Amino acid sequence: MEIKVMKNILGENDRIAAENQALFKEKNVYVINLMGSPGAGKTSVLEKTMERLKDKVNMAVIEGDLFTSKDAERIEKHGVPVIQINTAGGCHLDAAMIQQTAPQLDLDKLDLLVVENVGNLVCPAEFAVGEDEKGVVLSITEGDDKPMKYPLIFKESAIALLNKVDLVPFCNFDLKSAEEDIDTLHPGMKVIEVSCTKDQGVDAWCDWLLLRVRAKQGK
Ligand code: MG
Ligand code: ZN
Repeated sequence: MEIKVMKNILGENDRIAAENQALFKEKNVYVINLMGSPGAGKTSVLEKTMERLKDKVNMAVIEGDLFTSKDAERIEKHGVPVIQINTAGGCHLDAAMIQQTAPQLDLDKLDLLVVENVGNLVCPAEFAVGEDEKGVVLSITEGDDKPMKYPLIFKESAIALLNKVDLVPFCNFDLKSAEEDIDTLHPGMKVIEVSCTKDQGVDAWCDWLLLRVRAKQGK
């Protein structure tokens, strides 16, 4: 019985996600659903991304958080339109939340929409929101065992950012082993070593993102 209920929820979510996807396609907006644990550095990556890309593309952000608007306030400082979704304790964003929120953005003018999901390595990967692709941010401080322990998010994502690589010398994090595990879970997946504080890997990530945006627009 429980399994059937779960299937119905996911089926309904997929239906709405497909509607969102059709809208974003019509408007030529590339959408990435950025996921990762609390503290992985999703918002820091976004801040670096805005510095690099906000003059090259029209971008906006939808911020998912349990309660606060702390992250949205950080985004807003960069002059990029941002909408906060508070899930009131809900552990992921779903397609209906994005459907209700997206019309508040000027989609005709938009090239890139980043959806920062609620900090969580588990169920955000199960709920499509209408994105083109998913991305996962994993920080070095979380441990190199996380890809194998949370395989779905790596299987579902087109790109993995290994963030805070400047902390490798202090964290017993085996980069080679983590990258091999990610490649086992999702062969050929793009993996970039990033440090927001040292400005490492940010250009590679932004170049990757820009290519996706241009491809969506047929440029
Ligand atoms: Mg955040
Ligand atoms: Zn959840």
